[in-house]
Amino acid sequence: MLEKDAIGSGSSAHATGLLSILGTEFTPGDSFAMGREAYAGFIDLVPQLQDLTGMDILYQRPPALRLALDADEERLIRESLEWQSKLVPAEWISGADARRIEPRLTEAVRGAAYEPESAQLDSYRLNLALARGAELHGAQILTRTVTSLVRQGSRITGVVCGDETISCGTVVLAPGPWADACADWLQFPVPVSPMKGERLLLSYSGAPLPCIISSPVRGHMISRVDGLWSVGSTGGRDYDDRDAFRGVDFDRQPTEQAKFELIQRALDVLPDLADADVVEQLAGSRPLSVDRKPIIGTVPGLDGVLLATGHSTKGIHLAPITARMIAAHVFGDTPAFTFDPETFAPARFAEMKSPDFHDAGQGVDE
Ligand SMILES: Cc1cc2nc3c(=O)[nH]c(=O)nc-3n(C[C@H](O)[C@H](O)[C@H](O)COP(=O)(O)OP(=O)(O)OC[C@H]3O[C@@H](n4cnc5c(N)ncnc54)[C@H](O)[C@@H]3O)c2cc1C
Repeated sequence: MLEKDAIGSGSSAHATGLLSILGTEFTPGDSFAMGREAYAGFIDLVPQLQDLTGMDILYQRPPALRLALDADEERLIRESLEWQSKLVPAEWISGADARRIEPRLTEAVRGAAYEPESAQLDSYRLNLALARGAELHGAQILTRTVTSLVRQGSRITGVVCGDETISCGTVVLAPGPWADACADWLQFPVPVSPMKGERLLLSYSGAPLPCIISSPVRGHMISRVDGLWSVGSTGGRDYDDRDAFRGVDFDRQPTEQAKFELIQRALDVLPDLADADVVEQLAGSRPLSVDRKPIIGTVPGLDGVLLATGHSTKGIHLAPITARMIAAHVFGDTPAFTFDPETFAPARFAEMKSPDFHDAGQGVDE
């Protein structure tokens, strides 16, 4: 495994670690099926990984409330629930019922989608545990920057890292928000662009939340297993109706503007948080793909190379399923997925000339 900086130094270091099925990220069909299968994958993976590495990844599976504070949010949530509730346990509850679950919620809550179970973990700890687990299974982790690929005819046989060449049977390219470099190496479109996101960790002396809270416009609010509260994120929300949070931007600088905005959103949902202190502000870039779906699989016309990138806002959630899909290619297995893996194959971009990321960067939920 070749890493140019440090394990968990990219997008994954900043993620909330929310493994949510509802929301706008998983659309009907293969996307939703993939999200469900990925979610289920963590239930076995987490105890295995924790036992293997001795690391606690702060995994929790509480209920969740997806709140509507205005008519547009209510319409969006209810429309989504019409099809989602046929596939997963979820129902619409009134504002009063939502406040019975969490009495500190603002009176402005009109209603919510209630899920008896959702999940969240610490994405940085997950990265470290996965890397350690891979080492314990024989993987070698080297600090190297891949600068190009070694090609013999239509076969990729290794990677170039500056002056050094490393040969291998199959190259798996998973460079997150840096993925556009792969397009030159492969001479094939890899439409991925960084999209900035910021979030806050708060210290608050009040009781922890009994559930994971999110809203389409105001984002998430989670009491983590370590006692800190996560609120966020910026990037692509209706609330972010200013250029600072729109579109694509490779920038990992925390901003005062985002901090102010995130605190305001949190207070809109739970006014008691006025007593909370900001203990950490995180800023990272998501690997936004042009259709917001991951790009996983073989590259048309080339052997010996696979792409695993473009996971946009769901790269933590989709990590175990991506690994299974890649392993199926590498080892020639044919596992039964509940979705068609070809939906996410790079081939869908074969004819793409100049990707426009504007639509992909709208209505982001995580
Ligand atoms: C604020 C925020 C909140 C988020 N919340 C969630 C969430 O709740 N749930 C969720 O599922 N997702 C969430 N995400 C999205 C998630 O973080 C990403 O989808 C995911 O981390 C992408 O993982 P990755 O491994 O593809 O990329 P990365 O984590 O960026 O890893 C890529 C790695 O490749 C290395 N690399 C790049 N180029 C080279 C090279 N040439 N040579 C060697 N190494 C290289 C980089 O250094 C980096 O370490 C969030 C993101 C942000 C920013």
